[in-house]
Formats: sequence, C-alpha cells, structure tokens
Amino acid sequence: MVLDIPKPDVFNAPLKVVEKMMTGAGPSNYHDRIRKSMSLPVLGHLHTETLKIMDDIKEGIQYLFQTENPHTFCVSGPGHAGLECALTNLLENGDTILITCCGIWGQRAELMSKKLNADVKVLYKHPGEQVSIKEARNCFRMYHPKVFFLAHGESSTGMLQNLLEFGDLCREYDCLFIVDCVITLGCAPIYVDKFKIDVAYSGTQKVLNAPPGITPITFSPRALDRIAARKTLVTSYNYDAILLGEYWNCFANHPRIYHHTVCSTLLYGLREAIALFLERGGLESSWENHSRVTSNFCNLLVSNGLEIFIDDEMLRCPSVVSIKVPDNIDPHKVISYAMKNHYVEISGGLGPTVGKIFRIGLMGINATNEVAEKVAKVLIESIKEAELVSKI
Ligand SMILES: *Cc1c(COP(=O)(O)O)cnc(C)c1O
Repeated sequence: MVLDIPKPDVFNAPLKVVEKMMTGAGPSNYHDRIRKSMSLPVLGHLHTETLKIMDDIKEGIQYLFQTENPHTFCVSGPGHAGLECALTNLLENGDTILITCCGIWGQRAELMSKKLNADVKVLYKHPGEQVSIKEARNCFRMYHPKVFFLAHGESSTGMLQNLLEFGDLCREYDCLFIVDCVITLGCAPIYVDKFKIDVAYSGTQKVLNAPPGITPITFSPRALDRIAARKTLVTSYNYDAILLGEYWNCFANHPRIYHHTVCSTLLYGLREAIALFLERGGLESSWENHSRVTSNFCNLLVSNGLEIFIDDEMLRCPSVVSIKVPDNIDPHKVISYAMKNHYVEISGGLGPTVGKIFRIGLMGINATNEVAEKVAKVLIESIKEAELVSKI
C-alpha cells in the first residue's frame, strides 16, 4: 500500500538550538551541571535508583516549601498542572471557591474552577495591586468559601502578594488555602506550615533553573482530610493527589504503586537543581540575593529614565521586574530587536498587562548584577532603536 503521507522533508535538516539569555518571565537558563545531568541514561519509573531520586527530591521540596507535610511530591506537567491538581482535588461540584485575581494567574484559576463546576467568586484587583486581608475578610463573610486561591508572585504584573494572616482567616472559616508559588519559590519567603497554607505548588523552570514539566506540590493534612471526605471521585486520573501520593511514597501504610511513567530525565534535572540551590547557600541566601539584584536592577533602569510598573518597592516580586513601556514605543519592536540582535529574551505583558509592560526575569543563576546590567543595556538600546524606527 502506498503511504498517504510521505516522509516529511523538514527532518533532513539537523536540529539546531541557539544559546539565549533566558531573562523573560521563565524558563530561565540551565546551569551546566543541570544540563549535563539530563544527558544521563534513562531509568525505569519503578527502578530502585529512580525511587531513591524521587525520595531525595521530596526531601528537597519539603525544605524549599518549609513544610513537614508527608504529602509532598511532583506532578508530571508544567506549573499549570500544579494549579489543576490543587483545584481538582479540593473542589467538588458546586463548592464555593474565592479567587483573588490580580493578573493572569487569578484568571487561570477562575477558568479552571469553572471547568470543575465550582461556584466561583472572584475578588478582582487592578493589575499591580495586592489583596488586603480586610478585603478578603469581607468576601469570606459574604461567600463562606470552601477554598481560597492566592498567587504569591503575580508574574503577569511583577507584584508580590503578602501571605500573612490569610491562613488564619481560612482556618476561621474552615476553608482551604491554595497558593501559587511558581515564580516565588526560592526567591521570597514561603513557610507553608507557618503560613497555614493547605496546598502550595511551584514551577521548576523559574528560580530553580530546572527543566519545566515536573511540578512540586504539597498538601496539608487538612487538605487530605477534605479529599478523604469527598462525596464524589476526583474527576482527573492524572492529577489525583491520592494516586500520585501512593506513587511518590507519601503514605506509610500504602505500597508504592505504578501511576504513570515519570520522566527520569526531568527528575535528574530537578535533583541537580535542588543540590545546586543548596550548595549556593539555600533559601536565606537566595532570598537575599534576588532582592539585592532586582533592587539594583530597578535603580539602574530608573536612572536611565525608565519607570517600574510596581510603584511600591515592598510589593515588587524579587524574581521578575515589570517595566512600563515608554510612550510611543511599540513593545513588540523592542522585544524582537533584543532577541534578533542579542539573543536576549525580554517578555511583554501577559493577560491584563499586554502592551503595557516589559517583564524581565532574574532567576536563580541569572540573578546576578552582571546579567542584570547586560539585560538593562540591551533593553535601553532596544528601546532607542524602536524609537528611531518609529520616527522614520
Ligand atoms: C510561570 C507561571 C505559571 C505557569 O507555569 P507553566 O509552567 O507555564 O505552566 C503559573 N504561575 C506563575 C505565578 C508563573 O509565574
């Protein structure tokens, strides 16, 4: 029989990937050691060596999240999979969820919760503003939510949300507290247990400089009780926290069972990333370093006539800086000039900030003054070029 579809020609050309400076809102660059770890031989998803790596990673995540939760593991999938895993396990048909929406991550949580047929209430803020405990309390009084969602770092605006007191408010109302820590894990303090967070998830490709596609997540004992009391089955197989927890050996009395084939290559990358993070001084030194570097970076930009989108320095996320697009400048021209001429990635706005800001990520190994100065120089040059082009 003759094939209907012939061999595609595109594959005659070899795979070609250039080295870029990954200073957008993520992913960030790999350290050489992380890159090398990912060329190690593949292992089976239940091989002893793989299971040991999974156990090591679990300990690493417990440290990063500052939690004793035994139910701490990774979801195979990007940061969005962490959000979906949290919502899918905690929400049943008609349950009320209160979502604070300060940018795109609140919007995504809203969309996913609607797909789960939850009763969705949203506390909207202007992009760049944070939610106060008082506003949240008013909404709790009105809606009595069973689940509450907050993004710690709203990477679409560069805003860092205060996390204190929300945990107590949630306990008062017997509500579960979900926090998106994708852009903030490792760059700003997150104490899952002290802050009384019930589910926290993060990404690997931001501050940890690890490959995307494997997402750390942790569930509190309260969250597990809620899942155990569900009237209906969790609607997803892939994101079922109990089945995943069995595979990741989270229960003392359940055997470890095959749930899916975890990508051993991603596990190597993440394990090496956590090892590097610890070698470089761990949480306190990383928090301090990110704040110092982004603060220098902001000062440098301001001294060159640019304006930071988040006015209040205390509300700036230490891993991603948002900069107002100057008047009469086309942000796309700036972004494409920087990429074409310097292989430097500058992100544009996202969701509510499209066309209004540039976003520059200084994460993990990229959080250095050298990288910051290089990106600042490229950004300023690219804006000047865009100005010239628009005048012609
Ligand atoms: C990047 C990011 C995500 C999404 O991560 P993906 O890996 O792209 O799914 C979610 N939340 C925040 C705050 C982020 O910065």
